[in-house]
Amino acid sequence: MTGSAPITAVRVSAYRYPTERPEADGTLAWGATTLVLVEIDAGEHTGLGYTYADASLVRLISDGLASLLAQADPFAIGAVTDRLWRAVRNLGRSGLAACAISSLDTALWDLKAKLCGLPLVTLLGARREAIPVYGSGGFTTDTADHCQRQLAEWVEEHGCRWVKMKVGRDAVRDINRVAAARSAIGDAGLFIDGNGAYSSREAISFARSIAEHDVSWFEEPVSSDDLAGLREVRRAISARGQAMDVAAGEYAYTADDCRELLQRGAVDVMQADVTRCGGISGFLQASALCDAFHTDLSAHCAPALHRHVACAVPRLRHIEWFHDHVRLESALFDGAPQLSQGVIQPELDRPGHGLIFKHADAARYRV
Ligand SMILES: [Mg+2]
Repeated sequence: MTGSAPITAVRVSAYRYPTERPEADGTLAWGATTLVLVEIDAGEHTGLGYTYADASLVRLISDGLASLLAQADPFAIGAVTDRLWRAVRNLGRSGLAACAISSLDTALWDLKAKLCGLPLVTLLGARREAIPVYGSGGFTTDTADHCQRQLAEWVEEHGCRWVKMKVGRDAVRDINRVAAARSAIGDAGLFIDGNGAYSSREAISFARSIAEHDVSWFEEPVSSDDLAGLREVRRAISARGQAMDVAAGEYAYTADDCRELLQRGAVDVMQADVTRCGGISGFLQASALCDAFHTDLSAHCAPALHRHVACAVPRLRHIEWFHDHVRLESALFDGAPQLSQGVIQPELDRPGHGLIFKHADAARYRV
């Protein structure tokens, strides 16, 4: 396998894909999703990676980071990513820099698998053939009716065992929304995501106020930057015997961020996002840390990109089947996963992660 063709080109482009209607969670509102796509050529193969971030990454990558990949050995992913992390030292590793490196790292793993002629999950080492997903939407801008229909469809038509909705705008309305969601989904697991909208005291009180609706997951009840607050919420919930996991980790950009969440006892379940945490390499690190802390891991968003690595790592509970990303990935990629009976599977008849970008269809969204 050594002596393969060196990397000859890195291309980067950004696409702004509108949502169906205005959307919001507890702390943010949006009307589009920006995808930053990276393609890396070596020999006759092209590796593809992406992140959900900001179009400014096009310049960061094309004018800077891409030069660090020129003529590099595509099998030496560790050497390349070491150079990338060193290069962003003065920018700060987290945030946009980590998103840029995540997209490049993922493209490198796709390229390596293609050069080996293997599906990515086979290269990584499969632990399972399929992975369950949970339906994720229930925006605070949606009517109760719409939210009920969306969540019920995931459960009844697609076999999802769990669904997630956003909370955090208005406590009284949110209690009614959670009750309505519960009545629409029968015995399926109900998750809520606060996106950091509450103080720890408010979050503890809100968790108590919805106790009768059997919510089993409270994501980012307080800001992910407030590790003591996460831990306080987690302890208060478990002290009163409420079976509700506290989850966070979508803003873990480095192994240090993951370690802090775990070491400080901030989460019952860790989340990690391959488009932010350093790509496939970073996700493998996150999963190793979770294993060492005996804590389960859940993949955040970007379901098409998570399915191979999710089938390769230990302690992986599920992937988030996030409404916006499912729409975008099925529209702009050939080979996006099909949800059936609550699970998705890696495509094993294609090398790499199996995704092919539909450049012609995506052209109208290019930024
Ligand atoms: Mg979240």
